[in-house]
Amino acid sequence: MTLTAPRSAARTPELTTNLPRWRGLVSPGSLSQEHFSPRNHETIATLPACTPEDVGAAFEQARTAQHAWSKTPLKERAAIVSRFHDAVLAHHELLLDVVQHETGKSRSSAFDEVADIGLTAQYYAKSARRHLKPAKRQGAFPLLTRTREYYWPKGVVGMITPWNYPLTLPITDALPALLAGNAIVLKPDAQTPLSSLAAIDLLYQAGLPRGLFQVVLGDGPTVGGAIIDNADFVMFTGSTATGKKVAQACGERLIGFSAELGGKNPMIVLDDAPFDRALQGTIPASFSNSGQLCMAIERLYVHDAIYDRFVPALTELVSGLRLGSDLDYSSDIGSLISQEQLNKVTSHVNDAVARGATVLTGGSARPDIAPFAFEPTLLENVSEDMELCRGETFGPVVAIYRFHSDDEAIALANDTRYGLNASVWGSPRRAEKIARAIEAGSVNVNEGFTASWASTDAPMGGFKESGVGRRHGREGIVKYTNVQTVATQRGMKVAAPKGMSPEKFAQTLIRGLRLMKKLPGRG
Ligand code: NAD
Repeated sequence: MTLTAPRSAARTPELTTNLPRWRGLVSPGSLSQEHFSPRNHETIATLPACTPEDVGAAFEQARTAQHAWSKTPLKERAAIVSRFHDAVLAHHELLLDVVQHETGKSRSSAFDEVADIGLTAQYYAKSARRHLKPAKRQGAFPLLTRTREYYWPKGVVGMITPWNYPLTLPITDALPALLAGNAIVLKPDAQTPLSSLAAIDLLYQAGLPRGLFQVVLGDGPTVGGAIIDNADFVMFTGSTATGKKVAQACGERLIGFSAELGGKNPMIVLDDAPFDRALQGTIPASFSNSGQLCMAIERLYVHDAIYDRFVPALTELVSGLRLGSDLDYSSDIGSLISQEQLNKVTSHVNDAVARGATVLTGGSARPDIAPFAFEPTLLENVSEDMELCRGETFGPVVAIYRFHSDDEAIALANDTRYGLNASVWGSPRRAEKIARAIEAGSVNVNEGFTASWASTDAPMGGFKESGVGRRHGREGIVKYTNVQTVATQRGMKVAAPKGMSPEKFAQTLIRGLRLMKKLPGRG
């Protein structure tokens, strides 16, 4: 393992200069909260924190702003998002610094967040009109019924986001909601508020009307609960356990929600996989953001025919990864976010080792690098009685298993309560056939997670306990609307004409239905 020690400075000068402006974007709160950097434990900022009453006030302001915004032409909304895209690229170094200070992740992992905002902002700025323009629908009666579908904004969307991708998750899910004419009240995770504030600052500079994007900070259940109490729709990203509570609370109010939740994602390496590509591809697939990625691979299934060659080569590769949290591209893997996360990862690994798992590489915390750093770790001989076998570790830890047939690999991959992401490496036709049999919302062939994630025109989300609803693509913007059908009946009313008995009308309709079935293009 190559090591790079963190610099001592808690903040870069640019961060210090911008802080007062970002603090001004937080909705006023009656409480306050300190934020620390996991790189070195130093305080980054003290920000206001909200009570439920403060959250209610933020919603009122958002509603006022939303009235005018819903009447702003979509072209103007898209132009703001397009300018925001350019601003993010222009200020990417500052954004990377903020993300690294707040999370301790490597700069490359932070860059994934900037790239993701770029891709999503471009996509929705260009495609929102196509997704939201009134759609012509098949009418009840050919020629006689003109039917159109219209998209109304939901109103104020409440967003609750986690700490692992604090820049991109709040922003890329907010952009389609804003384009659809909604306002936002966001509760970022208490550990990572600054990344979203830095990006929202750029949104306002790009022309977003003031008040449209409220940020409320504070405790998860209290402030998150108040978001659900006030929102017209909830976009939640986080753990499956919290997702279930959010679903229950949204159900009580009969409001819609979308939930992007946890995973225990499998990768299958077939015996005809492109060996070196698969080997190299395992690194970002498993260790991006130190494995604190919902789509990260935690279960690696390797075909028996190549296992004894693949696993030693992977072990060597992982042993050479550079661990550190400097504000440059010198490290491959950064720190974990917190003591809590470090405790969870350590306990999964220690429990597995105590029950007979073998550590191939890694396995230890590295406080000499950063307070919460943990080595990238490969384990063999992981069995059902170990917590990390089925539970989401959310750290740089991969369990490796051997398989003998495609059917066995599919069964193993599907043997989980989750279904977020999967990866299959092999000859494309065989790998795609396996991909179609895996119960997951996204499956990457000859890639870990980036190919499906970055396909912003395609929906992304979970099967089983990994989520409800989808982000990206048409689904990712239409969900923020109430869909209205307006049908205009011409000529004939949909009832028996004057003088026709109900029985005669029924017979006429039967004949009409038979005729309509034969018409081409209907259905
Ligand atoms: P978490 O569920 O603990 O917290 C997520 C957010 O919910 C935070 O803002 C938190 O303050 C808030 N919250 C906590 N309790 C709440 C409550 N009772 N009501 C309302 N809000 C509440 O998750 P986490 O530990 O911050 O994030 C890691 C988890 O998120 C992992 O399971 C990971 O897989 C998942 N995740 C999923 C995706 C995805 O796209 N599927 C993306 C990122 C992270």
